[in-house]
Amino acid sequence: MTDTSLRPSLLDPLFAPARTLPGVGPKVAPLIEKLLGTPEREARIVDLLFHLPQGGVSRRLVGSVAEAPVGEPVTIGVTVVAHRPPTQGAGRRPHRVVTEDATGEVTLVFFGMPRARVEKMLPLGAHRYVSGKIDVWEGMRQMVHPSRIMDEAGLADLPAVEPVYGATEGLTSRAINKLAVAALDKLAPLPEWQDPAWLAKNRYPTFADALRTEHRPDDVPPRPADPLQPTPGTPSRRRLAYDELLASQLALALTRARQRRKAGRVNAGDGRLVAKLTEGLPFGLTGAQARAVQEIRADLAAPRRMLRLLQGDVGSGKTAVALLAMASAVEAGRQAVLMAPTEILARQHFERLAPLAGALRLRLMTGRDRAAERRATLADLAAGEIDILVGTHAVFQEAVTFHDLGLAVVDEQHRFGVHQRLALGAKGEAVDFLVMTATPIPRTLALTFFGDMDVSILDEKPAGRQPIRTLTLSTERLDEVVAGLGRAMAQGERVYWICPLVEESEFVDLAAAAERFEDLKQHFGEGVGLIHGKMPGPEKDAAMARFAAGETTLLVSTTVVEVGVDVPEATIMVVEHAERFGLAQLHQLRGRVGRGAKASSCLLLYRGPLGQVSRARLEMMRETEDGFRIAEADLKLRGEGEVLGTRQSGLAAFRLARIEGDGDLLETARDDARLIVERDPKLETPRGQALRVLLYLFEREAAIRLIGAG
Ligand code: ADP
Ligand code: MG
Repeated sequence: MTDTSLRPSLLDPLFAPARTLPGVGPKVAPLIEKLLGTPEREARIVDLLFHLPQGGVSRRLVGSVAEAPVGEPVTIGVTVVAHRPPTQGAGRRPHRVVTEDATGEVTLVFFGMPRARVEKMLPLGAHRYVSGKIDVWEGMRQMVHPSRIMDEAGLADLPAVEPVYGATEGLTSRAINKLAVAALDKLAPLPEWQDPAWLAKNRYPTFADALRTEHRPDDVPPRPADPLQPTPGTPSRRRLAYDELLASQLALALTRARQRRKAGRVNAGDGRLVAKLTEGLPFGLTGAQARAVQEIRADLAAPRRMLRLLQGDVGSGKTAVALLAMASAVEAGRQAVLMAPTEILARQHFERLAPLAGALRLRLMTGRDRAAERRATLADLAAGEIDILVGTHAVFQEAVTFHDLGLAVVDEQHRFGVHQRLALGAKGEAVDFLVMTATPIPRTLALTFFGDMDVSILDEKPAGRQPIRTLTLSTERLDEVVAGLGRAMAQGERVYWICPLVEESEFVDLAAAAERFEDLKQHFGEGVGLIHGKMPGPEKDAAMARFAAGETTLLVSTTVVEVGVDVPEATIMVVEHAERFGLAQLHQLRGRVGRGAKASSCLLLYRGPLGQVSRARLEMMRETEDGFRIAEADLKLRGEGEVLGTRQSGLAAFRLARIEGDGDLLETARDDARLIVERDPKLETPRGQALRVLLYLFEREAAIRLIGAG
């Protein structure tokens, strides 16, 4: 849904289909499509330009055979001295070609290549240049299948560095490079959108020069010693990363400015109701909770719209903060709504809020309400006889009309689409928004995806929580684990057993869970319960309720318990196939225990052998309970798409910047973007005009429409 009608025409050549490039025939076109096309659009020239090489191979000519390093790509000049084709019937023997220069010998080795072809490429006595890796075999230098064989003229054409791309079947790195170089020819000079002083200070090239340097490098970037560390960016790479980050931050800043321009209302009263509720809580607020409540109340009291993210690890007490925020709105004579991602959570929120809410009129609304119930809720809501509505997605269906909605709280944001957030906003004029998430999002990512929001962080847990003992065990020790659980349950402990995430398909997960359930029932009898995502709602509630009440003491589950469920008596969490879960997800799962006064433990069962990354991840889980540390580690190990669970949805979406390596630029980009919007809110100055080009280039033009509107 991009509006390209206003795209500056100087960008048109870049958005032309890649198949229109010279030299692209019917054979290559589908390969480009496979590499760079999406279901929504075909591959364009700009996509080729933005498909940056992952590294480069040096083709620099080495002085002599003796000097050529072993195991690294080199190009050497040699004379052909002998051909040793395979003898008849010798099976898969290679054709060897002995070559030399004044300093030594190298044997070139060819498997399965017709003799005539080898002899034609390397005529006896001829001088040739060959590129490839030298290795030593039985004390002799050899080069297996040189990647290039050239005469003088060929050498003159050889780039000093050959870029290496993420290739696709049938399309080699070299072919991609040819296409990219052809695409570079379509690059018209673009106005400079970056601050010239800043560019000069960092010695960054222009956008076009940066792309040229990337696709036609004359130097190989240094390799990091540690493969888990990101490669340091070259100036051209950093410049391009910054362009992309600035485009995304500028789009967010424009959105944010628009939100703020819409007048908000004062959604806080004299504070008496909030004070009274605070006093009535069965616990004192933690410092972090008190701070968050204050930040939220300051926003609510200001006559502009609030858009705030409340980030707090599992168990940090977000619900109480939400309650006090909603009480603020009620104090100002308005209504509030709390929306949860699942039925179970909506119910749980409702049940926990009810005893804390004093005189506030609370109501639950879910998709399961009977028709009469629902009618009554709708009527009361419209009449203003409900202060706080708690519910699932049902709360923003069209039929739902509030009397006067002041504040919307959305729990576990990442499960809701932005669309739902907007739909809820439409329910009331100038509704303030509080979005709660238990996913500890590294700061860099928070800026990327929630850069339009202000952030409050609950970085302190309520006092008296016990650390959770985390163990990693091979599935081979399942029998021991089961025996241990038996002893623990005999002592009155309650256990969650999370079943492996086998595939994307929930049905497959389900089969695994059902099987494990039967298996554990054999051991423990009727005390074992089962809950999964495909169960009808009432059954799910019932299973959860039996576990909460202690009627079942072991609950087998797919990952439906992941988000927010609170059974303080549960003290043991078993996760099967833990190596298949993301770190953040494991952290969420582990957070289901350790909620009461008793000591808790978490058993991560894995099926070996584990790779290096899996091992490091499970190690990290054992080492720390700090959700932010875990999230940062996850980001380093897996990349941002996995961390936010957005890889499949295509949201991850940086094409040039790598959050792992360029994250430091993000904050600069955010500040830069905010300053730009402050000084030139409609992007009218010459730099503003150039920035419009930037937004179109990175397809963030939706933000441009906001400038005119609102
Ligand atoms: P989450 O941030 O995961 O949503 P909850 O709001 O569900 O956390 O709170 C977790 C548990 O901690 C609840 O049982 C809640 O009553 C309790 N709790 C919240 N705040 C405090 C506090 N300041 N002191 C003690 N317990 C608290
Ligand atoms: Mg919660």
